[in-house]
Formats: sequence, C-alpha cells, structure tokens
Amino acid sequence: MVVSKVIAVASGKGGVGKTTIAVNLGVALALHGKKARVLDADIAMANVSLHVGLDDVPVTLHEVLAGDADVGDAIYRVVRNFEVVPCGVTLSGFQKATPDRLRDVVIDLIEGVDYLIIDSPPGLNRDSILPIAIAEEVLLVANPDIASIIDTAKTKAIADLIGTSVYGAVINKATFSEKSVAVTEIGKTLETEIVAVIPEDPEVRRALMARRPVLLYNRKAPASRAFMSFAKRMIGETPTYYDEDLFREKEESILSRFIKAILRKK
Ligand code: ADP
Ligand code: MG
Repeated sequence: MVVSKVIAVASGKGGVGKTTIAVNLGVALALHGKKARVLDADIAMANVSLHVGLDDVPVTLHEVLAGDADVGDAIYRVVRNFEVVPCGVTLSGFQKATPDRLRDVVIDLIEGVDYLIIDSPPGLNRDSILPIAIAEEVLLVANPDIASIIDTAKTKAIADLIGTSVYGAVINKATFSEKSVAVTEIGKTLETEIVAVIPEDPEVRRALMARRPVLLYNRKAPASRAFMSFAKRMIGETPTYYDEDLFREKEESILSRFIKAILRKK
C-alpha cells in the first residue's frame, strides 16, 4: 500500500491563497511523479473547480456528504497523477451536506494516492476545524502582513490544541517590500518552519482567469517555479528555488511579541 499523507491547507483568513496552494502543490507533486488528489472541503465557499476549470460536474462532495452519491463518482482527473474532488457551489447542496461524514470520505480518498491535500475553509469555526482534526498534518498559509499572520497563528494554536502536527507554513503573495514582514520573522512568530515562499505573481491571477492552475498555465512563472520547488522539498529532495534574500532578518522583533501578547503566550 502507498503511504499517504493527508495534509490540510489552512489559514485564519480567506483570500490568502489556500486553494491556489492546494491545487498547484497537487499539480507540482504530480509533475514530480507522485499521485496527488485535492479535496475541496470548503463546503460553503467551494472554488477548487474554478481553479482547475471544471464546469457543471454532476457529482461533488456535496452529493457525497448528503449520502446521494459514492465518493468514487466525485473524483475528476485534471492531468496525469492529479485529481480533484470538487465541492458543489449551490446553496441547496450546501444545506444538505453533513460535514460529519467527511472523515469517512477522507479515508476512502486516501486509497491509491501518495498525497491527499484538503483545501479547508478559513476561520475558526466547526467546518474549518474539522479538516484540521482529520488530517495527519496541517500546512499553514499566511501572507506577509500582520493581520494574516495573527489569524494564521490562531489556526496553528487550534492545530496544537487538537494535536494535529503542523508540517510548516507557506508565505504566499510575498512581495518583500519594506512594508512586508520578513520571512524569518513570520517563522519565529508562528513557531513553525517556513516550508515555501510563493511570490506575489500576476500570472497566478491570469491563470485563474483562464481557469487553470498557474503551473499548467505558465511553467516558467515565478510562482510556478516556487511550487515546483516546494513539491521537491515535500518529497524529500533539495528545493531548487531558494533565495537567501527572502529569508533575510529584519532588526526588530516587535511583531512576535505583539502576536504572543494577543495569543497570551509566555
Ligand atoms: P483562499 O483559498 O485562501 O481564499 P485563493 O487561493 O482563492 O485564496 O486566492 C485568492 C486570490 O488571490 C485569487 O484571486 C488568487 O488568484 C490570488 N492569488 C493567490 N496566490 C497568489 C500569488 N502568489 N500571487 C498573486 N495572486 C495570488
Ligand atoms: Mg479557497
């Protein structure tokens, strides 16, 4: 049997890039020869199907959670080695779905893949905590701004509380301007390893307009290269896209103190 890794992609805030990361990490793992599957568990605001250009699929996670379909019928192949399980986008489907069945669905979806990546809803409610509880590991996502880091620190606190280990954090939409928080500082604040830094890249938005993962839209885009490097790291190879500059230290460490005060850590 293939040893699976069930990874929940999670963040405090929406719009930080969870779906972008779940999908492109999946594609990158597939391009490295691993079999990857993305489950859209953002039951209320599903958009994995948008990111991979799937229209009007007959069976989604909604139907599976409502007990109206088998999970096998909700798996769609995007490219070789990469499949997605989209979630429906209708409100009625959302109302019928019972998240409690998610654990069983996840167990079924592990079968035959190397990685199952769960795209989680943002926030700290029941629906967002469930994927973290089910997953083997959590991949945190934050943007290099204080609000996003604080919210993701709360997500990490939840993972710690539940006892799900944190694989690390991805800094997405990195700009490295003077206004953004340094990567090392974010790692220290979140008390976790920064496993990837994905630059702010206009090609990511263009790819979404074209309804394709950026890795399949433009392999040479800076974000695509960062995703390939991230997948390499995940499968135990040396990352290729590593810019010392991104990991530069900034002088002050006020941010971590500030966040720790908010989270009441010693
Ligand atoms: P989430 O799933 O966390 O809500 P999304 O993955 O849907 O976030 O991304 C939100 C928006 O940000 C989308 O328009 C997406 O194209 C854009 N985006 C995500 N990552 C990047 C990036 N690295 N560079 C530029 N735009 C990005
Ligand atoms: Mg999303």
